[in-house]
Amino acid sequence: MAYKHVLAAVDLSEESAQVLDKARAQADQAGAKLSVVSVVKPLTQVYGGIDVAPLAGSAVSFEEQAIEQAEKQLRELAARYGVAAEDAHAILGAPAHDIRELAGQLGVDLIVIGTHGRHGLGLLLGSTASAVLHGVERDVLAVRVHFDD
Ligand code: AMP
Repeated sequence: MAYKHVLAAVDLSEESAQVLDKARAQADQAGAKLSVVSVVKPLTQVYGGIDVAPLAGSAVSFEEQAIEQAEKQLRELAARYGVAAEDAHAILGAPAHDIRELAGQLGVDLIVIGTHGRHGLGLLLGSTASAVLHGVERDVLAVRVHFDD
């Protein structure tokens, strides 16, 4: 059965183009719709146990600005791959969990995500890719991304 809706997960780093190239090709081959997602981590997740409450005012506005900036970059990137602004989702949350959650909400049947070997063979999948695979109820295409060192 051909895929109907493909979701590409991108962190907006340089490897995003490689993930989107593969996702676009898969969607075109199947005649499927393509959506993209990028998840911005909340400060509490980035700084672990550090109490960010005293910084609340500036922390909130920082997160809002980060989401706005991610939205802008994601829309520009999405447009280059023929993906409409309403199908480019910039969200605040935990990357692996929220990628899986959005895939369920959108009724996606294939998630495309990057993997790399920057930390050796044992960690080939990368933390986000392996976390997305955990308990996921749809197909996942892990795209091996390459870097010019
Ligand atoms: P990592 O394992 O975290 O280095 O990331 C590998 C891949 O996971 C990236 O190429 C993206 O496809 C995906 N990914 C990582 N972080 C995010 C994020 N914050 N939002 C969406 N996708 C992400």
